Amino acid sequence: MSSQIYITNAFVVNEGQIFKADVTVKDGLINEILPHTPGSDNTKKNFFITFSQVINAEGLYLLPGVIDCHVHFREPGLTHKADIFSESKAAVAGGVTSYMDMPNTFPQATTLEILENKFHIASQKSLANYSFFLGATNDNIDAIARTDPHLVCGVKVFMGSSTGHMLVDNTHTLNKIFELNHILVAAHCEDEGIIRSNIEKYKRTVGEDLPVEYHPLIRNKEACYASSKLAVALAKKYNTRLHILHVSTRDELRLFQNDIPLIQKRITSEACVHHLIFNKSDYKRSGRLIKVNPAIKNKTDQNALIRALKTGLIDIVSTDHAPHTYEEKQQPYFKSASGAPMIQHSLQAMIGLYHRRLISLPDIVNKMCHAPADCFRIEKRGYIRKGYHADLVLVDINAPVKVNYDNILYKCGWSPLVGEVLPAKITHTFVNGHMVYENGVFYNTPKGQRLLFDK
Ligand SMILES: [Zn+2]
Repeated sequence: MSSQIYITNAFVVNEGQIFKADVTVKDGLINEILPHTPGSDNTKKNFFITFSQVINAEGLYLLPGVIDCHVHFREPGLTHKADIFSESKAAVAGGVTSYMDMPNTFPQATTLEILENKFHIASQKSLANYSFFLGATNDNIDAIARTDPHLVCGVKVFMGSSTGHMLVDNTHTLNKIFELNHILVAAHCEDEGIIRSNIEKYKRTVGEDLPVEYHPLIRNKEACYASSKLAVALAKKYNTRLHILHVSTRDELRLFQNDIPLIQKRITSEACVHHLIFNKSDYKRSGRLIKVNPAIKNKTDQNALIRALKTGLIDIVSTDHAPHTYEEKQQPYFKSASGAPMIQHSLQAMIGLYHRRLISLPDIVNKMCHAPADCFRIEKRGYIRKGYHADLVLVDINAPVKVNYDNILYKCGWSPLVGEVLPAKITHTFVNGHMVYENGVFYNTPKGQRLLFDK
């Protein structure tokens, strides 16, 4: 059935511009973008069409749906923490319409069969569009070689252990993965040797139960730099399409380029929302809830990452949404799980940076919507363009929302932002032309589709 939606009078933020327009949606696709000038009445042009939904978006901002390239939805196998339904619901409430999920689920997604099973689960349960990374190990080079880059977002390489023990530490294997060169390699870069020696040092000098303030000293900037440098060197050697995940230090920015357009880059970089909104002074308040890998570091790192969004040394913003139960987080330092949930509030938190004049709205849309689409070459998403999938979000950028335990949608039931007031409210989210979220109300039928890639 053809459904037609008419969104009128919104401030459209798209491709570096903000302009008033009416946007129509037909059969899941963006059909028309009609500039809305004073006195103009676009309804006359559409007089003969009966729209199934007409939304007066006066005062609201219309953005392409956010594409979050780095999430951990924990399904299958770890569904006591989160699952695809619960977290995709939180995603659409936050204006996120597409996501790419990491392979450290159980069983780990290191074979094509296990990977396809995740796509199958998402096709039944996901409210947002999805893709899943294949996980690299020391011995699955054949599976990597057979992965279809048109159907799968990329291969995740842990170049340093994190949650899930998928460390690739065999140099020969690493070279082989980078040499394959047919699919994007997304790398978690922290040097395992440096981290191990820091752990021993602080166990010896401080003890077994460290305050969380030691996290950025154990997973320190040297560990990040050494590993990112190795990944960049390998990518240059083999001309690999490399994407460095969650860059957390000022020093690593030196490894990236901003003198060519994103679409031409072979090496791209990501910053995560928590590294942009927190620094080490926040450990005092949030404790182990903001224990994440790589660690949240100094204010100088935070400021440099925010600046790098503007200069182009950082290409995209994602969340590394990584829920654990509250109990798993509150264990003593070495047992406390690393990772925090963020996807429900990532766009609102970034608009918080806009209100502090640290980033413009078009730059937010670039880093969270356009650039992820370009970076991964996602087909027909990430922009408000005729013929593109109608993944859209309406935002009231001046409507403060307090994060509290009652309005958190994550299965784990907590967020490091509890008690914070975010300055913006997500009012409507559309996925493939379907309104899936409207002011706290969900239309729960899964409408997510598998992302496809022009590769
Ligand atoms: Zn991650």
